[in-house]
Amino acid sequence: MEIKITKTQAPKAMPKESELGFGQYFSDHMFVMDYEAGKGWFNARIVPFGNISLHPASTVLHYGAEIFEGLKAYRTEDGRVQLFRPMENIKRLNTSAERMCLPTIDEGDALEILETFVRLEEKWVPKSFGTSLYLRPYMFGNDETLGVHTVHRATYMIIASPSGSYYKEGINPVKIMIENEDVRTVRGGTGYAKCGGNYAASTRAGERANKKGYSQVLWLDGVERKYIEEVGAMNVMFKINGEIITPELTGSILPGITRKSCIEVLKNLGYKVSERLLSIDELLEAMKAGKLEEAWGCGTAAVVSPIGRLMYQDVEYVINNEKIGEVTQKLYDILTGIQWGKIEDTYNWVHKL
Ligand SMILES: *Cc1c(COP(=O)(O)O)cnc(C)c1O
Repeated sequence: MEIKITKTQAPKAMPKESELGFGQYFSDHMFVMDYEAGKGWFNARIVPFGNISLHPASTVLHYGAEIFEGLKAYRTEDGRVQLFRPMENIKRLNTSAERMCLPTIDEGDALEILETFVRLEEKWVPKSFGTSLYLRPYMFGNDETLGVHTVHRATYMIIASPSGSYYKEGINPVKIMIENEDVRTVRGGTGYAKCGGNYAASTRAGERANKKGYSQVLWLDGVERKYIEEVGAMNVMFKINGEIITPELTGSILPGITRKSCIEVLKNLGYKVSERLLSIDELLEAMKAGKLEEAWGCGTAAVVSPIGRLMYQDVEYVINNEKIGEVTQKLYDILTGIQWGKIEDTYNWVHKL
């Protein structure tokens, strides 16, 4: 495919790697491509990073037609740049698009776009272990009318943000609040799509959790508020009595690529992994009986994030003495090892550029 490149006249300097944080700085360029029904995708271009202009009636501003992805470009010790399972992100982008009546993108084109963009922004991939260039592909409906219908015009973009190590101060277990008022989504809804609307709907509970001193919420299912779903922007896993349990993908849970990778690694290590329904009652019982051995969230940003405390209806439960567990640590070492090229990628997950 043809991608027109217009380079910036004013390249920026990369901030110090120790000061990167998350999502605060942006690289020099961005990718943009337009879609019109009947015409398909056209005008693929990389342009200097900057503001965009939208019609005031643009669909995304009124009806929330927006989806996104999140993945990282990693720099290995020998200076090369690589991606982690990018086709999984591309496939999920198309699944999300289908759910939100947005146009899909040819998988081969989507990969070529990603590769071309990351190669151009190569200098923005930081060097130290744990740091990365966070890539944010996203798509939104852009019809210039207030009519409610499937999207006829859309825009696909990618921006890139150099990001610091998630664990600058070591891997400290987090405190999580189990939410039993708000729900994130329901089966039949948009839970399995990575869309902005899911986040807009979950911010209120997140704020309440923060006020009480918890970093994120653990969602229960939207129908009975009985089954464990996921944490904020991460999937969740528990080790109960030797069995590793993660909620099955019922349609209301986001199918995380880190989740999928953790399952494969754990099975390969010989652990018993069950993707099944896990009720809050079963979890509470396990915690009271001291059988909840480990709990962790998993997602691209943190890789794995051990959970040290869980709160449900104002009662707090401490997990593994608020220390990272053995399985969580193993997953962290193996996944980050593969991503930053420190250990051999026996899974064929790495996509070198
Ligand atoms: C992105 C995301 C995840 C994690 O998915 P990864 O592919 O592992 O990064 C989990 N839950 C939600 C709600 C998400 O948006």
